[in-house]
Amino acid sequence: MDFLVIGGDAAGMSAASRAKRNNPDMNVTVLEQTTDVSYSACGMPYNIADPDRTIDDLVVRQAQVFRDKQGIHLLTGCRAESIDPAAKAVQAVDHSGKKKTFHYDKLLIATGASPIMPPIAGVDLEGVLPLKRLSDGRHIREFIRRNEVKSAVLAGMGYIGLEMSESLKERGIDVVGVTRGFMSNYDEKIGDVVRQTLAAHEVPLYADHAVEKIEKDGGKLAVTCGGETLEADMVLMGVGVRPNSEIAADAGIALGTKNAISVDRRTETSIPGIFSAGDCADAYHVVTGEKVWVPLALYANRAGWTAADNICGKHSEIPGIAGSAVFKVFELEVGRTGLSVKEAEAAGFDPAAVTIEARSRAHAHPGSTSIWVHMVGDRKSGRLLGAQMVGKEGVAHRIKAPTVALHAQMTVRDFSQTDLAYAPPFSPVWDPMLTAANQLIKKL
Ligand SMILES: Cc1cc2nc3c(=O)[nH]c(=O)nc-3n(C[C@H](O)[C@H](O)[C@H](O)COP(=O)(O)OP(=O)(O)OC[C@H]3O[C@@H](n4cnc5c(N)ncnc54)[C@H](O)[C@@H]3O)c2cc1C
Repeated sequence: MDFLVIGGDAAGMSAASRAKRNNPDMNVTVLEQTTDVSYSACGMPYNIADPDRTIDDLVVRQAQVFRDKQGIHLLTGCRAESIDPAAKAVQAVDHSGKKKTFHYDKLLIATGASPIMPPIAGVDLEGVLPLKRLSDGRHIREFIRRNEVKSAVLAGMGYIGLEMSESLKERGIDVVGVTRGFMSNYDEKIGDVVRQTLAAHEVPLYADHAVEKIEKDGGKLAVTCGGETLEADMVLMGVGVRPNSEIAADAGIALGTKNAISVDRRTETSIPGIFSAGDCADAYHVVTGEKVWVPLALYANRAGWTAADNICGKHSEIPGIAGSAVFKVFELEVGRTGLSVKEAEAAGFDPAAVTIEARSRAHAHPGSTSIWVHMVGDRKSGRLLGAQMVGKEGVAHRIKAPTVALHAQMTVRDFSQTDLAYAPPFSPVWDPMLTAANQLIKKL
């Protein structure tokens, strides 16, 4: 059996490794267009914050280890250009420009996502940089060092922009955020707490603005937004990503939501024998059962495993995605899972919501700080639909409890009765989530 994988990061290498573990005799080949495989993109903001680190710290497993220890035929610098499903073949080109054909019995497309570079004047100027691949992180580190960057505009303040605001501030760089909507998927109070923290750390925010053009003005970049011109040494483009699905669409594979590759619960595409996993593919939402596109790391790894299991002849279905995400911005932890009120309405639920402020530790325990919890439930069924949280401690791990509850399709009442562990350094006896659930029950 020849198993061919296009893309050698989270989804692709998880699938390749799992297939080899399941079936050591299988021929597993991976085509990766860059020289980097199996790295933690998620660690890049923290890596860039520290001038003494090297970006290669983020490589989880070197290409040679996959080859020598796992017997995976891993080709770096090799870009897949087209798929011929009838011939079960992939055309590729290697780093020297040589064309090659690879035949497969089963194929996995794990091509990930690419940063969106908006079609504005100056987007291709030197110093206007995206942060997606490891090579982008390398480039940003090098650009900061070589140009002694003192100021940056962050175009887009999603979680990458927010993480980078902290990272660049740590390097002594002044940052300004310019963003169309600010935390629009979050409850207003949670967004306000983050805004206040940005202000406290002297990160001006041009919310409801977009970068309109970028010009070179002497040694600096001049960024126009909402009639103002902001000067900076560097512009970080973080306005979002799009799935790398062209190669699949050209081969006649159906695309779904947001142009991601449409897959079933076994991660198989519309063409039997061709699977897709990770940021290039869509997924089922565990609350709505509908297709969504949520490009995040754990799901990419999980979907890679599911694809490999099915390719190895098992029947494996992935339950789906809850849209759980956490990030850190300065001293704050921010987390969410499931649906916001807006998303719940759009999905046909009749949502009720509460936002409460509670303490991170027991009443008399020193060091306690505020945690804000926003919780959404459905009036018709009583189901828990989503939760969001922000605070200085205890958020990132706490958000995992409602995530599990969403997977289990629990009601808010059931969730309010869960036996969450308590000790004074970690929570009040009624955990903030239980308090939010008890408040929400009154509105359902
Ligand atoms: C700065 C940053 C921070 C992040 N933080 C978090 C976080 O905290 N938590 C979280 O859950 N997620 C985070 N993510 C998202 C996470 O990194 C992605 O969800 C994950 O990397 C997706 O893995 P993937 O394998 O699907 O795609 P990718 O990592 O994009 O890998 C796809 C690979 O395919 C290769 N490829 C593409 N086309 C071809 C082709 N035609 N031929 C050969 N090779 C090809 C690419 O070069 C790439 O190496 C972050 C991302 C970034 C950029």
